[in-house]
This record gives sequence, structure tokens and C-alpha cells, in this order.
Amino acid sequence: MIMRDTDRALVQAATAVAKLRCRSDNHTVAAAVRSTDGRVFSGVNVYHFTGGPCAEVVAIGAAATQGAGELETIVAVGDRGRGVIPPCGRCRQVLLDYFPSIKVIVGPPDGLRAVPVTDLLPETYVWSDQQVEVPAGPRAPLWPTPVVPGVRQAAED
Ligand SMILES: [Zn+2]
Repeated sequence: MIMRDTDRALVQAATAVAKLRCRSDNHTVAAAVRSTDGRVFSGVNVYHFTGGPCAEVVAIGAAATQGAGELETIVAVGDRGRGVIPPCGRCRQVLLDYFPSIKVIVGPPDGLRAVPVTDLLPETYVWSDQQVEVPAGPRAPLWPTPVVPGVRQAAED
């Protein structure tokens, strides 16, 4: 996958945010995402021991906040000059479920490439494929109505 000029610009955007905004242990990674209409949104991770979100998820939320539609490409950059870093497993799954055709920029500084998220999750679990369709019509109660001795059931009237 060849890096386009817009991909290089996306890396530059994430790098700039990492340099400017990742100045504490609370924020150590910046992400930039480009929508199909060419807009760029960014975000930083929110570290917390309870499971604060990664920068990629925050950038997706920022894009949604601004009314972006489909997202095309995303990249994350670490603080302290760490450069492009690959998404964690959870982010890969979120990206795949939300934007199945999104590309993710990965690789070493001299070999960056934009790869389909599906390449990062072979043989993946696809949430929408696993949803069982519930047939229409009356549904059986999950639990039988308890029978209380001495109390007439409404159905017996
Ligand atoms: Zn992540």
C-alpha cells in the first residue's frame, strides 16, 4: 500500500498533536483520522487505570462530534518522538466494526504504509455477523409465571 500525500499529511497532523498535547502521563499518544470528504480530526488518549480510551477512539469520537461520516484512514503517533505506533487489539476491533474499509497507517519511519484494517485482524470476529435475528411474533416469557399457592392466577379467571 503506497502512502499518498494525504497519508503523509495525516502522519504530520498526528505528530504535531503528539508534540503539542502529549506532555503528561495522562496523554501519551495522539491520533489523526481523515474522513472520506477530506476532513482531519485528532484526539489524544486519556490514560486511566480503569481503562481510559486510546487516542484512536477519542479521534473517532471527535470526528463523530463534528458530524463526519465515513472515515478513510487513521494513524496514531506516540509522544517523545516514538513515531507511528500500531493500534492495540481493542482499537483494531473498534475500527473494523465501525469502519470496515478504513486503512491504518503502520510501519517503521522509513517504511510507513496504509493497510486495510482487515489485514490487521485476520480471521476476526465480526460482531454484526454474529447477531441472531429474532423471529417476529409473540415471544415466550423468559421465566414461567410463579404459581403461588392460594392465589388465583389471572389466566384462570
Ligand atoms: Zn487502542
